[in-house]
Amino acid sequence: MTANPSANPSAKTQGTALITGASSGIGAVYADRLARRGFDLILVARNRERLAALADRLGGETGRKVEVLPADLTDKADIARVEAVLRTRGDITMLVNNAGVGATAPLLASDIDKMEAMISLNVSVLTRLTYAAVPGFVARGAGTLVNIASIVAISPETLNGVYGGSKAFVLALSQSLQHELAGKGVRVQAVLPGATATEFWDIAGLPVHNLPGEWVMTAEDMVDASLAGLDQGEQVTIPALPSQDEWNAFEAARRAMSTRLSNAAPAARYKVGATVSG
Ligand code: NAP
Repeated sequence: MTANPSANPSAKTQGTALITGASSGIGAVYADRLARRGFDLILVARNRERLAALADRLGGETGRKVEVLPADLTDKADIARVEAVLRTRGDITMLVNNAGVGATAPLLASDIDKMEAMISLNVSVLTRLTYAAVPGFVARGAGTLVNIASIVAISPETLNGVYGGSKAFVLALSQSLQHELAGKGVRVQAVLPGATATEFWDIAGLPVHNLPGEWVMTAEDMVDASLAGLDQGEQVTIPALPSQDEWNAFEAARRAMSTRLSNAAPAARYKVGATVSG
């Protein structure tokens, strides 16, 4: 992992960020960048050795307090421990909901138990941790929730459909919370990475070297762009999308249509209740 030149070990503390999936890839880069921005950290994942090595390095390099909280987030007791930390620790100012798995195979080549496990981690766990963190953020009038979705949230034809659906859930929940929590001091950002060079692709069954190089971003660039998007006040950040205007136009069309989605009468094209003459 490359060091961030903007690292500032003496930065004023920003409170504590809890990052799930911090043992590798995108989550480990969030840990690096947030420590250099002045956050203390709580790092969550299953791999204790990797978490401990990252905590040692970041603690040494930045002087921040870096705690490790090893947990298998698909295990009920483990997730309850992480939820308890989020509910009770008043110093937590940011939750990065990053832990997730993907899949690339279509339905006919996929195992339903693996699909269900993916829904559990990508959807249920993210939801439980969000519900554990947000009440404290609201009570303190401050807090940031970063939800790592994916471009497949709006491009479900790209990879496995259950993976796309799980990330569409992350985007929809984030947008709903942006609406619900407006004016309560809580920021909610959904991040939609495109292909990013991490172990994700090996685990999903398609090592990243199979993708055209021009599609694939480094995890460092992806996270730096996402944090820049957060700084710029973006609610939805798509690091590879050349113009935010394109997202804004897509959103404007959705919001305009949302005022026409419910009506006592079916649309005229269905000819429901039309009088048949002759
Ligand atoms: P990664 O390197 O495989 O990281 C996944 C992280 O999740 C690891 O730290 C892993 O740690 C953790 N994790 C997996 N299962 C877990 C469990 N049961 N309990 C606790 N932690 C668990 O992949 P990544 O690319 O950084 O993925 C991070 C997020 O980015 C995911 O939500 C993914 O869907 C999203 N994303 C990735 C890409 C991409 O192209 N890479 C694109 C769009 C979105 P342990 O194995 O130590 O538990």
